[in-house]
Amino acid sequence: MNPIKLQKVFQEIQKNIRCPRCGKRYAFDEIHLINFTGSIYFLQLNCQMHLPLLATVAVSGLSIEQPLSKESISPDDIILAHKIISKAKKLKEIIG
Ligand SMILES: [Zn+2]
Repeated sequence: MNPIKLQKVFQEIQKNIRCPRCGKRYAFDEIHLINFTGSIYFLQLNCQMHLPLLATVAVSGLSIEQPLSKESISPDDIILAHKIISKAKKLKEIIG
C-alpha cells in the first residue's frame, strides 16, 4: 500500500462524502480503511453523532471515480463485512 495514495483516498473521501444524517464532513481519524483489493477500497466512516457509514470506493489512478455504495450500518454489519471480506478470495465474491 502506497501511503501517499491512501492519504489521497482519505482526502477525496473528505471532499466527496458526508454523513447522510447531519451533513458533517469526516475527519481523518474518523475514516478507517477496512480492506482494499486492487482499486476497490472498503472504508468505515464514523460520525460522532450517528451510526457509521460503510463506503465502497473505486480508485482510478489518484482520483476517486465515485462511491459505489453508501449506507448507514450497525456495528453488527461491520463485523459481518469483516467476515465477508476476510473470507472472500476474489473481489467477485464480495460484490457479486
Ligand atoms: Zn452525522
